[in-house]
Amino acid sequence: MENTKILEINNLHVQYITEEETVNAVNGVSLSICKGESLGLVGETGAGKTTTALSIMQLVPYPPGIITDGEIIFEGKDLIFNTERENQEMRGNGISMIFQDPMTSLNPIMTIGEQLLEVVLTHKKVTREEGKRQVIELLKTVGVKEDRYNDYPHQFSGGMKQRVVITMALLCNPKLLIADEPTTALDVTIQAQVLDIISDLQVKFNMSMILITHDLGVVAETCDKVAIMYAGEIIEAGTVEDVYTVAKHPYTRGLFESIPKLDDKNEKLVPISGSTPNAVDLPSGCYFHPRCKYKQEICERESPTLKGEGHQYKCHFSLFEKEELG
Ligand code: SF4
Repeated sequence: MENTKILEINNLHVQYITEEETVNAVNGVSLSICKGESLGLVGETGAGKTTTALSIMQLVPYPPGIITDGEIIFEGKDLIFNTERENQEMRGNGISMIFQDPMTSLNPIMTIGEQLLEVVLTHKKVTREEGKRQVIELLKTVGVKEDRYNDYPHQFSGGMKQRVVITMALLCNPKLLIADEPTTALDVTIQAQVLDIISDLQVKFNMSMILITHDLGVVAETCDKVAIMYAGEIIEAGTVEDVYTVAKHPYTRGLFESIPKLDDKNEKLVPISGSTPNAVDLPSGCYFHPRCKYKQEICERESPTLKGEGHQYKCHFSLFEKEELG
């Protein structure tokens, strides 16, 4: 893995503004990813993971969505100031995204071969024959046989459709792949196969990858780094090894405590009390304070800053102090 930063997001804020309300979807996200590195972006539904991804792709639906602050630097250029033409160039060749439900990415009335070939011909200067050869070669790499080239999406199972979507995302050799819950719509047995394919291709093509998921187990198996999102903020981030060995934020600790362990049948699971805050009306101070067992008066008043080098966490108190408070 190289140490060159390929993507750097600084203080990103995204809102969805309607006449009735303003949804604060992303509230100051900063993160970076190096060439060849894989980052797991973890959080509950509504934590802001997908909006962060759509911001990188410059696909936040406007209106009502709008990036109100921050920068998204990809290969030295702030994508927020891209023209639509530059965005089209960037999507595919620079950054590609795999969405949760494969059917949202596939046209039901075109054969998968036609759709994949169209992607190649849009982004690369190649002949139809060469384009078709590249499509078939990559389809084979993800385990789809050449004789399926002229089949329609409805003729594929969920797992096979996701393989076609992976092919579509990788056809133009993107430098960064964003996979948004790529296995959520699949059966458990197929999930592992699809994740293996994505991981293998990430290494083979030396791509950087952001894997969005709510599953900490998937991140442990697939990623180098992890960032935990809560209420539109990153509340803890670091290498998978560091964060999984000693989680420093109470929310991250809560996530780990609520996962069943195979080797301890008597263990009682500890759920995180309460529910995620309403993004229309976020709590004062630390967004996690209504659910936090360590909360002090300052937590309701002041938003904590990120602490730590490398392994960072957003809390007023260190782990040691929290143990005393608890
Ligand atoms: Fe809990 Fe306070 Fe830390 Fe927030 S800042 S996580 S409320 S201890």
